[in-house]
Amino acid sequence: MEISRNWRLRYQRYMLEGTKCLDCGNLSFPPRRVCPRCGSENYVPRGLKPEGEVYSYTLVTSPPEHFESQAPYPVAMIKLDDGPIVSAQLTDVNYEDVKIGMRVEMVTRKLRAYGKNGLIIYGYKFRPVEG
Ligand SMILES: [Zn+2]
Repeated sequence: MEISRNWRLRYQRYMLEGTKCLDCGNLSFPPRRVCPRCGSENYVPRGLKPEGEVYSYTLVTSPPEHFESQAPYPVAMIKLDDGPIVSAQLTDVNYEDVKIGMRVEMVTRKLRAYGKNGLIIYGYKFRPVEG
């Protein structure tokens, strides 16, 4: 079940694919079948630019199951340049150095190894943009 779920979510995870409402132009991430702004069900998949800035952040010290070995780690709400706000783990940065408004970009990283066979699940995280 875990495997098929990850397969189903692969575009959403790797390409930051959202949806664009054909009636009002609103961009959503994660993808929405119904526009949260106008209620329309007319939408198309839309790849979102994987860059934005830190909107808010927190340090996770009591992580969910399977993420224990990574804790503590920073998680941020990231306001994408395209508009939607995404929740994601931050990487390549110390928590003390995270700032509101900091420019970040998406990177694909190992989220965790799964099971005895070592299936590795990848997903997106965000890291500071150089410069
Ligand atoms: Zn709409």
